[in-house]
Amino acid sequence: MKAVVFEEHGGVDALQYKDVAEPKVGPNDVLIKVRAAGCNYNDIWARRGLPGMKVLLPHISGSDAAGEVVEVGSEVSDFKPGDEVMVYPGLSCRTCEFCANGRDTFCRQYKIWGFQTGPLDGAHGEFVRLPAFNVIPKPKGLGWEEAASLPLVLLTAWRMLVGRARIQAGDFVLVWGAAGGLGTMAVQICRTVGARAIAVAGSDEKLEFCRKLGAEHLINRKTQDVAEEVRKITNRRGVDIVFEHVGNATWPQSVASLKWGGTLVICGATSGFEAVTDLRFLWNKQMNLLGSHMGNKTDLLEAMRWVESGQIKPVVSQVFPLREAGRAQTLMEDGEVMGKLVLVPD
Ligand code: NDP
Repeated sequence: MKAVVFEEHGGVDALQYKDVAEPKVGPNDVLIKVRAAGCNYNDIWARRGLPGMKVLLPHISGSDAAGEVVEVGSEVSDFKPGDEVMVYPGLSCRTCEFCANGRDTFCRQYKIWGFQTGPLDGAHGEFVRLPAFNVIPKPKGLGWEEAASLPLVLLTAWRMLVGRARIQAGDFVLVWGAAGGLGTMAVQICRTVGARAIAVAGSDEKLEFCRKLGAEHLINRKTQDVAEEVRKITNRRGVDIVFEHVGNATWPQSVASLKWGGTLVICGATSGFEAVTDLRFLWNKQMNLLGSHMGNKTDLLEAMRWVESGQIKPVVSQVFPLREAGRAQTLMEDGEVMGKLVLVPD
């Protein structure tokens, strides 16, 4: 099959579109013919290489896929060839105490498929093999590209806001990178639960896009002081929740924007992993600083119900042929993307 592979870490030039062996199913696996695969910032981290994280080489990235089942293992009874499916990209042991009670992300073996796994097993190929546990039916109302754009960002944003930060109707939520993959899901989750999203983005065009998704307030981080704008919007109170995934560049503004007793939830650090916190604010403001990582299968199934009812919509901005994965990654690295980029095999 054709796939986008890197054999060593580097820039987009490290990506090769080449023939690799088709995956083989084990007894509990499902083989899927990929009709569309999502792009995520994680694909860039894997390609560049991350200190402290071993990426098995050669590597096929991609944590989101939608497609048709072509073969199932001898022990699989929930799926059959021809079924239209999408994926849950969290791999775990399925037997430890955490997996047993649906808290997959606490499993010591938890990994993001196509990011921390390998070699040669992400979504950016013509076929993928996954345990049947990681396959869910594709809602009939969703196109291939729409379905492929959802799992990783929907799941992560859902867990951050619903599972960890316990978002409530009426909450002010500061959403960094609101026009990005996670951000567009976060803005829609806020609107759906009746919370008030304050969208931050790097251009007015992106902010207009966020307004259409349901953001109530808009802040252009390039021309406005975010914490100052938050003070004006919230009548000096600060926000109930900060939705963080940018890290170093935004952390001080995030802390300053939080209300007393507010919650800052973070899942990533696009701009850098080291951030300084004045600890006096932590105790005086009695802040809740929460980490969040991907999500459980139950989080995805719960969030997908809101997709099926039309309250959360996929946000696909551009579709590229699979062989142009590098072009898609360059757009993401340059901060040019609104919503999600999706790849389709030729
Ligand atoms: P996207 O590329 O879709 O969006 C990232 C957004 O971040 C951009 O839209 C940009 O918005 C904003 N941004 C980038 N640099 C800065 C900066 N210096 N200051 C302020 N904003 C900035 O990425 P994703 O939404 O897919 O992922 C975001 C991060 O979350 C990544 O680092 C990713 O690895 C991580 N992640 C972690 C997961 C987990 O489970 N732990 C799961 C999914 C993602 P603008 O320029 O418009 O302000």
